[in-house]
Amino acid sequence: MNPENKTVRDVLAYYGTDSEYGLSNKQVEENRSRFGRNKLKDHKKVSIIVKFFMQFNDFMIVILLIAAAVSFFISYLKNEVDFLDPIIILAIVTMNAVLGVLQESKAEKALEALKKMSAPMAKVIRASNIKMVTAEELVPGDIILLESGDFVPADARLISSSNLKAEESALTGESLPVEKEADILINPNSAIGDRKNMVYSSSSVSAGKAKAIVCFTGMETEVGKIADMIISDESPQTPLQKKLEQTGKTLGIGALLICGIIFVLGIFKHMEPFEMFMTSVSLAVAAIPEGLPAIVTIMLAIGVQRMAREKAIIRKLPAVETLGSANVICSDKTGTLTQNKMKVVEIADTNGKLSSTSEKNKTILEYASLCNDSSISAFGDIIGDPTESSIIIAASSLELDKKELDLKFARVGEIPFDSKRKLMSTIHKINDGFLIITKGAPDVLIKKCTEYLEGDRVSAMNLSKYNSLNKINSQMAEKALRVLGVAYKKVKNFPDKYNEDTIENNLTYMGFIGIIDPPREEAYDAVKTCKKAGIKPVMVTGDHIITAKAIAEKLGILEDGDKAMTGDELNNLSQEELNNIIEEYSVFARLAPEHKVRIVKAFQSRGDIVAMTGDGVNDAPALKAADIGCAMGINGTDVAKGAADMVLADDNFATIVCAVKEGRGIYSNIRKAVHFLLSSNIGEIITILVAILIGFDTPLLAIQLLWVNLVTDSLPAIALGLEPPEKGIMQRKPFSSQKSLFADGLWSRIICEGLMVGFLALIAFGIGAVYYDFGSVPEIGRTMAFSTLSISQLVHAFNMRSDKSILRLNLFENIYLVYAFIIGVILQVLVITIEPLAVIFKVKPLSLENWFTVVLLCLMPIVIVELEKFFTSDEKEASKFKIFDKSKSELKKMKS
Ligand code: ATP
Repeated sequence: MNPENKTVRDVLAYYGTDSEYGLSNKQVEENRSRFGRNKLKDHKKVSIIVKFFMQFNDFMIVILLIAAAVSFFISYLKNEVDFLDPIIILAIVTMNAVLGVLQESKAEKALEALKKMSAPMAKVIRASNIKMVTAEELVPGDIILLESGDFVPADARLISSSNLKAEESALTGESLPVEKEADILINPNSAIGDRKNMVYSSSSVSAGKAKAIVCFTGMETEVGKIADMIISDESPQTPLQKKLEQTGKTLGIGALLICGIIFVLGIFKHMEPFEMFMTSVSLAVAAIPEGLPAIVTIMLAIGVQRMAREKAIIRKLPAVETLGSANVICSDKTGTLTQNKMKVVEIADTNGKLSSTSEKNKTILEYASLCNDSSISAFGDIIGDPTESSIIIAASSLELDKKELDLKFARVGEIPFDSKRKLMSTIHKINDGFLIITKGAPDVLIKKCTEYLEGDRVSAMNLSKYNSLNKINSQMAEKALRVLGVAYKKVKNFPDKYNEDTIENNLTYMGFIGIIDPPREEAYDAVKTCKKAGIKPVMVTGDHIITAKAIAEKLGILEDGDKAMTGDELNNLSQEELNNIIEEYSVFARLAPEHKVRIVKAFQSRGDIVAMTGDGVNDAPALKAADIGCAMGINGTDVAKGAADMVLADDNFATIVCAVKEGRGIYSNIRKAVHFLLSSNIGEIITILVAILIGFDTPLLAIQLLWVNLVTDSLPAIALGLEPPEKGIMQRKPFSSQKSLFADGLWSRIICEGLMVGFLALIAFGIGAVYYDFGSVPEIGRTMAFSTLSISQLVHAFNMRSDKSILRLNLFENIYLVYAFIIGVILQVLVITIEPLAVIFKVKPLSLENWFTVVLLCLMPIVIVELEKFFTSDEKEASKFKIFDKSKSELKKMKS
């Protein structure tokens, strides 16, 4: 069946459907079992076994396996029956791989769930009802409704369309939108781009509206035919992941060199070469931070889940990092800062005589109801845009019924609302010709009028009337009202080819409708939080500047010294001029979507990290240009969602602020985990290196190092990633995106703390070896060093939680860290006290006196770091602000 060269009636008959009734629920079920779900074949999933073996594809693991093989071989040659070392290494490597697979699939699941949450939806007519369903649920024969900004969910034949344009670049490579038309027949052999009576899955509607019948779904669609070429689910690494991988590699090479040196030194000092080889290899494995990128991935994935709970759905992983650095949030007004619960509160005629919804201005409401796409469902609910719905509700209070009006004055043509024109027009059949109604922003509409209505009299527009109409508009806007104007004209003949130029002129102005849309309650606090957190909230809106200012003042966005600008004023500025003054402005009104890109670029030119909201198809470029593009989940179009980094499931400004808080939390948790892992690794290197340099025996054996690496390093690092955002995190300036993760002296702290951990282990070793081993094989010394290293790191993890003293923190706030500590300590004690384990780990039971020494040494990290925090925390706090201010002043200097 080729729907292209069939009439709409034939296509409908073929699928046994009706353009008004749609399919019945039974037909939907039948077609679904026949044609399957409307989705493309999934990318081949990697099996768990393959994933497991992929974990071994790591440089360090390969070295460990070689070490295991060497040790097995040597034991064999020496005719030793004890293959413990290689067995333990294999066990540890396997455990590592299992953990790796578990963590990976957890991260994958989190991202998969998110993908589902942002799956495109489709508006479908079934059994006479209009419903939203996921695109996957569509079946051939379904009648779908499309409008500007929608993704086309399946290949469909147009039934009717109005000014429809579709962007089909994914299929045709042509980036310009193509015009579509229902009432033509096309040769099915023509190229996709020429089949104008069809719309195709994977394209999007860039303008107009349409009704269409689904003909092909899933793999039967045109995109399905080329699906294998384009399905790719590679998720690229985030900048931080890339940077850390690089840092990890550099550190790894450094660690390998040190291990080489330790091996050579050991040989010179006549240590047992085989044990020395194993120690060096284990040290390399313990010291190389091969887990860094993995830890970051897990933390990002956990963060993404947390954000989803807060209704911020991350679509692109790097956004999680960028959020922490955001210092400008540009937000739409309607629905994001305000409740989008519109209510008509004032109607004014052309003399400015106000009335609420009284008989006097009934015709204004009547016309506004006709030029209106909201409708009342069979259950009495109002479906449609809140601005339009508020008019229908006001009209019904005057007994004006939308359905009756539509029957009386049948709509025969329309030019849909678009936020660039800020107008909407409809054409209706009346007795002696046609009635054209235009409604929209009064300041735009008045310019299109040559006459105005006064009572029943129509007079010619003049300058003084023009000014007085604009004044009425401003007076209403000052009350924070969203104001709409209504105008009309009557024509004898239906316009040949109608468009905005031919229709929206020579109109007669009728009056104004004032709609209240109160600010969202939570927006007040969110704005305050932003300001405390060094983030500038900016309102960008299509509404009138006076309305915008009134609401921005209420919310605290516009304060003393802040300025407001209109889209027209912005047009008169060059980009450079805008860059220079942008910081002074907090409100941009009467904007067209393309202005948003200029605003984003202007803030970015000053080094700002900008979040920008958007909902319409024309907002996509600004969403892409912003550092964090935020699309509206409820009112946003599919195109806007597709272009965004983050989708706000509740369209709420406060959600962006929550996401920033989470973003900051994740960034600082990553910093904490990296801090912890690296200081622990350095501690291990120091212990071995110093011991060998000063001629001690090796204080830790290979197996012990591997244990420390697996248990005492990994558990607390992951637990640190689960730390909730710190209390004061929104009272600091944002992290500068220019600064490295290791800025603010992190490196020096890592090294100092590494030295501390290393020396504590050495002291333990020294005490054990000298006082308890009496010069023989230092077994007690090693056991004490092993326990000290292990437990002191578990203790040290608590230091990472904050720059503040741990006495000022709630210990149980991060319960995972407490669990990690308890499990780590119990395992460590078990390894030493249970006989068979002690044999494997080559340790000796410790006396109470030994344990006392170990415990004392293990508490030292808290004491030392607390002292350090006591002397430096105020300074550190101050320097955070200084660094931020400096970068701002440096930028100013650069500018001048
Ligand atoms: P934002 O959501 O970006 O804060 P907005 O939603 O207020 O802005 P638009 O939807 O572009 O901005 O509306 C701009 C102006 O267009 C409004 O002030 C109003 O006068 C007019 N307008 C809005 N909706 C309609 C509509 N459905 N029909 C006619 N005019 C409308």
